[in-house]
Amino acid sequence: MAKQHKQFDKETSVLLIYTGGTIGMVENPQTGSLEPFNFEHLKEHVPELKELGHKITTIQFDPPLDSSEVGPESWIKMTKTIADNYHDYDGFVILHGTDTMAYTASALSFMLENLNKPVIVTGSQLPIGKVRTDGKENLITAIDIAAAKDNGDTVIREVCIYFQNDLLRGNRTRKINADYFSAFKSFNYPTLAHAGVDIKFNKEFIYHPDTVKPLKAHYQLDENIAVLKLLPGIPPQIVKGILSLPGLKGVVMETFGSGNAPCFDWFLDLLKEAVSRDIVIVNITQCCIGIVEMLRYDTGHKLSDVGVISGYDSTTESAATKLMYLFGQGLTANEVKEYMNCSLIGEITISE
Ligand code: ASP
Repeated sequence: MAKQHKQFDKETSVLLIYTGGTIGMVENPQTGSLEPFNFEHLKEHVPELKELGHKITTIQFDPPLDSSEVGPESWIKMTKTIADNYHDYDGFVILHGTDTMAYTASALSFMLENLNKPVIVTGSQLPIGKVRTDGKENLITAIDIAAAKDNGDTVIREVCIYFQNDLLRGNRTRKINADYFSAFKSFNYPTLAHAGVDIKFNKEFIYHPDTVKPLKAHYQLDENIAVLKLLPGIPPQIVKGILSLPGLKGVVMETFGSGNAPCFDWFLDLLKEAVSRDIVIVNITQCCIGIVEMLRYDTGHKLSDVGVISGYDSTTESAATKLMYLFGQGLTANEVKEYMNCSLIGEITISE
């Protein structure tokens, strides 16, 4: 059941990393247009921060990025910022555009191996300088969660997304709404905390490393990954075009239902041929909820026979960034397949 911990250490220090996105915008009174503001003046825009009682330091990406422009280069920069400051802070909050936030949270969860401190990614649908902004609550509560302690111990030790009252595992989360304040959902894993009058942590679902090891930050990602979304009637030339891309190493293939795809000979032959070239093809369902079960129907079975591997209940965001991370480590296709079959940091559900 949900447990409540409201114990914040007065001396707790949080590093706030502003990467860009709507949250950091204010309206220019002269022109009426939205512009990023200087985070050195954050407390002027959000005076409530002074009352939190935590030591908050801010770092700002220059220039701030719309998250549709965030990718491996920015993830490496974020990883480095956290690694360089790891020992000086109790927790980290990353302010980020909402559009690709789930990709960033997934990538960081793999790149920050042995993470033992909270990294909370948040943003907002409306700029912090707007009267109806959702940004203030998201920012304030994300900082409180990054500072949360239970009997002196850090409560969160993983990369999470905090948005509109819910704390979600980063590599389980998807952006599901472009309009509503509740824009994110973790369909296949429970909410880690809910912020109402108090912040209630669902302790049994929060990642807890067995042993504390030094943080190992990874800075290599392989971008030669594609997403192939199946469509009824998808023509051979489209599948062939993707699978024959030069340098391609991995494919997240979004299939139907519990992992089904057409059994046409041309389709299976193309997949088989790609697998024989050491391309790792991961089967992810197009459904929001549920797990790929490739042996449930004949269509899924045939995919398994040609060497496609299960992505279990992974999000596309997590499977794609995991492939980037694994190939970035210089692993062989067979080694990558082995790791895709394991949960590295709670990103998939592997039943006993
Ligand atoms: N386009 C913006 C971004 O993702 C939207 C937002 O911040 O919500 O950077």
